[in-house]
Amino acid sequence: MAENDTTGTAPPALPGPGPDTPAALIDIGINLAHDSYDCDRGSVIARAEAAGVVQMLVTGSSAASSRTALAFARQHPGRLFATAGVHPHHAMELGAALLTELGELTAEREVLAVGECGLDYYRNYSPHEAQREAFHRQLELAARCGKPVFLHQRDAHEDFIAILREHWPALAGGVAHCFTGGAAQLECYLELGLAIGITGWICDERRGGHLLELVRRIPADRLLLETDGPYLLPRDLRPKPPSRRNEPVYLPHIAAVVARARGEAAEALAKSSTAAARRLFRMPEIDFRKSS
Ligand SMILES: [Zn+2]
Repeated sequence: MAENDTTGTAPPALPGPGPDTPAALIDIGINLAHDSYDCDRGSVIARAEAAGVVQMLVTGSSAASSRTALAFARQHPGRLFATAGVHPHHAMELGAALLTELGELTAEREVLAVGECGLDYYRNYSPHEAQREAFHRQLELAARCGKPVFLHQRDAHEDFIAILREHWPALAGGVAHCFTGGAAQLECYLELGLAIGITGWICDERRGGHLLELVRRIPADRLLLETDGPYLLPRDLRPKPPSRRNEPVYLPHIAAVVARARGEAAEALAKSSTAAARRLFRMPEIDFRKSS
């Protein structure tokens, strides 16, 4: 893969690891297979590491991106890991052949979760029935391989929670990725036992302000951080980045906003969210001060 920086999208340099570097962070949701990273993926990873984002879980959301996520994880052992799954947008693609392939992918050591999977009644790129079908099949797969689920839900809470409840006793936990819902939804997820993924949505004063209050209710051992890059660039970055593309180097900014909202030190949140991610995904520790 070509790795040059000709796009002019590089954000300003950030301090590398040193005595004052905050505790290590883990980006549990980064769509690194997205083509917006094709021209400078290596730099994106290097910038993230220099900013203290020591490990990342690369999201698989289709057959192709799940395969690519696994390939990236193999190129960066111990630092990058992958999920394998089919996003509700692609639910129509999940036939017998792809299900078999997903079964093979999720058996791989570097694949730490099944997903992203779930329901999306907002965009409706796949019919609801096909989405529910694909969700059931992937939850069964997660139960079989004993790995947690990486969950997506938009405008489909009732169906989503009903299906999830059915499978939950057989599952090894999971995360409601990119949580943007309200208090009742949060209570429901917490009661079930899910971890909650918080993105830069919380930095958006137009639509994410309610999360500033809600993040206080998430137990520290179930609060995970993610960028969901290249989507959801935090709106409050100053100076404004030259590109709208989000990337993991901005995770410390999201962590700072979440920590402030919770009234805790950034260091404490970094420690707890990193420990929570490692526990849920059984991700090994890494000493990020040693180069790989
Ligand atoms: Zn998603």
